[in-house]
Amino acid sequence: MFEPEIETRPWAEQREQDDALYREQIRYLFAKSRFFRDKLTAAGFTTPEAVGGLDDISALPLTEKDELRRSRSEADPIGTHLAAPMEEVVRIFSTSGTTGIPSYIPLTAGDLDNWVRTSCRSYAASGVSPGQRIVTTYNAGPFVAGAALDAFPRLGLCHIPVGTGNTERLLAAIKLLKPQALACTPSYALHLAEIGRDRGLDLRGSSIERIMVAGEPGGGEPAMRTKLQEAWNARVTEAMGIGDISVSLWGECEHQQGMHFSGRGFVHFELIDPETGAPVPVADGAKGELVLTHLRHRGAPLLRFRTRDHAVIWTEPCACGRTSPRVRCIGRTDDMLIVRGVNVFPSAVREVVNRFAPAVSGVISIRPSAKGVKQAPPLKVVVELAEGAAPSDDLRERIERDMRATLVVSTAVQLVPAGTLPRSEYKSKLLDFSEATSDANGDA
Ligand SMILES: [Zn+2]
Repeated sequence: MFEPEIETRPWAEQREQDDALYREQIRYLFAKSRFFRDKLTAAGFTTPEAVGGLDDISALPLTEKDELRRSRSEADPIGTHLAAPMEEVVRIFSTSGTTGIPSYIPLTAGDLDNWVRTSCRSYAASGVSPGQRIVTTYNAGPFVAGAALDAFPRLGLCHIPVGTGNTERLLAAIKLLKPQALACTPSYALHLAEIGRDRGLDLRGSSIERIMVAGEPGGGEPAMRTKLQEAWNARVTEAMGIGDISVSLWGECEHQQGMHFSGRGFVHFELIDPETGAPVPVADGAKGELVLTHLRHRGAPLLRFRTRDHAVIWTEPCACGRTSPRVRCIGRTDDMLIVRGVNVFPSAVREVVNRFAPAVSGVISIRPSAKGVKQAPPLKVVVELAEGAAPSDDLRERIERDMRATLVVSTAVQLVPAGTLPRSEYKSKLLDFSEATSDANGDA
């Protein structure tokens, strides 16, 4: 454990400390953040006292990424949520953004240090120990992942970065430098396993004991995890962060029961109903969208930021001794489809398909018939068969039946030979709109 005293603190005690930090953060926002002073005032909260403490947080308005984007101008390139003087900002990360103009994420020295500590807690949870070597496949560049990579030397690990899309360099590093840990996306870990099989490499006999996956859901899906662990003879744990708030905010421990919250004392999390915005009580098994609030951030702190990540949460004690709740990400709102009123996450479709391993390869492609979110049933799902597996109507029907039973959605499964669908060295694209013919939302 990276910070045992903090990580085993009773959660109720944490909440008390966080409440005090939150009140201080709200005072800071009123004093320094034009964006939140205006937003809170417009919502009828004219003083920090009117905002109150964490118990009252759900009365405050939510913050959307688009609002932050709209507050940018030539005079305010970062946005009016910038709260620290630029002289105190030591790093500015950016996100790629869909509009072509990057979103900037400014950090003070203290912010950066808190991010690295958060990442250290998350990565230490996976079981890596000082003196070990970790090979990573992330292209940090301008992205927040850079701060997560700063965690490795602080944990006493030897970091071997090989970057994205460098399979030969990665395989050489594994063979020659014998790292004990590998960090990559679950899609890439799966892709590497296939390459290893095709080339007759003994990945099971390699030095890799742990695979830390991040960047997309998948590592926590039981069938996917089993497949990766068997291919590599290694333990697979997940981590997850969100650029605007913190990198590696959640990290799974060796008990593999979901990702522990690692941002305690720095960030407060809530769950909401994504449709209505209503709070969902944090209780064992609760599901909702994660909403995050900085507690001691200086650069550009955010209040009730909507992550668009849908998660299930567990609050029962974990055998590792960490007292923070655990989550598993079910999917992103941005990828969600609505099929005749039912919310469908692509990663959940893949999870059902993966139950049919070893008959399937684990790679799927969902082909919506209409542009946009709403779809008329059946939803077309292209499922790749495993190497050497033959297509059968029986398998197709069993997958469709399981999909209906589990996700309450009608699908049309099309089985294709192994190797038909594209592989990814980064994140998998589970949705393919190339067959979407209409803008109409049909009768969905
Ligand atoms: Zn644990």
